[in-house]
Amino acid sequence: MLPPFRLARPKTLDEALDAIGEDQVPYCGGTELLLAMGAGLHRPDVLVDVKRLPELAGIRLDGNDLVIGATERHDRVAEHPLVREHVPMLAAVERAVGNARVRNQGSIGGNLCFAEPKSDVGTALIAFQAVATLVSPGGRRALSVEEFIAGPYYSAKEPDELLVDVRIPLGGPEVRAEYVKYQIMERPTLGVAIAHEPETGACRVVVGAVGEVPAVWTFAAPDEIDADTIASEVDPTPDLTGSERYKRHVTGVYVRRAVDALMSRGS
Ligand SMILES: Cc1cc2nc3c(=O)[nH]c(=O)nc-3n(C[C@H](O)[C@H](O)[C@H](O)COP(=O)(O)OP(=O)(O)OC[C@H]3O[C@@H](n4cnc5c(N)ncnc54)[C@H](O)[C@@H]3O)c2cc1C
Repeated sequence: MLPPFRLARPKTLDEALDAIGEDQVPYCGGTELLLAMGAGLHRPDVLVDVKRLPELAGIRLDGNDLVIGATERHDRVAEHPLVREHVPMLAAVERAVGNARVRNQGSIGGNLCFAEPKSDVGTALIAFQAVATLVSPGGRRALSVEEFIAGPYYSAKEPDELLVDVRIPLGGPEVRAEYVKYQIMERPTLGVAIAHEPETGACRVVVGAVGEVPAVWTFAAPDEIDADTIASEVDPTPDLTGSERYKRHVTGVYVRRAVDALMSRGS
């Protein structure tokens, strides 16, 4: 049973910013929020529906950035031609999120704002050094997705802020990316993303879902990626999907698999 609440349906960004606050929370697909409310973990007075705000929608190129609106649903992101062309790894990650209902209803913005540790999307976006755009009555600010996912179920968003979009920089050297995940329940136990710049050799390895927040390592070349070091440095959360020791082991195995996948593509 959901606790009682009012639903606000602002038509403009300004109306939405006027409507949100500590107990008046943004609502998009509701796949996390309504679950949390049903479980008695959250009792907002008002849900402010952000689905109809044009500023939070759309997938487009803006200069050197691929911009994905916060309300874009996982299945739209997965199938969008610009995402498939420029960041095929993200398209593949989005195609494998949860189940058909979650992909059809859940948004990329809701995923990041909820900061559920067992997520794939944040891990993939951090590999691409994506940036989150936030807006409040005081103005706009941008921060990396790595900073935005501040802790388990805790994003760096203030109660008067909306996440507008996520920007993936495309202007630098070409990036080739891989993502592998280990999943035995409906959410991932572990996800490993690698972004590799063939021109410079630089590699960014992000390990998510296994601990409270995604963790990042950088290496000078793919053959320098040290799976044992990563496995020893992750901070796994023991739970029904495995003990700390088991999750360290699986981390090493999946980092090696991600490297093998990258190398076998000749990158
Ligand atoms: C069964 C299940 C399986 C899942 N499996 C996976 C998986 O395999 N991989 C994965 O990555 N994720 C997975 N997820 C998480 C899924 O991606 C998220 O539930 C979904 O993206 C959340 O989006 P939403 O629009 O429904 O958010 P909502 O539930 O509407 O909102 C979530 C939170 O974000 C806030 N919020 C939403 N939009 C904004 C905004 N624009 N600005 C500010 N605050 C905002 C809300 O106030 C709320 O606190 C799974 C979820 C479920 C329920």
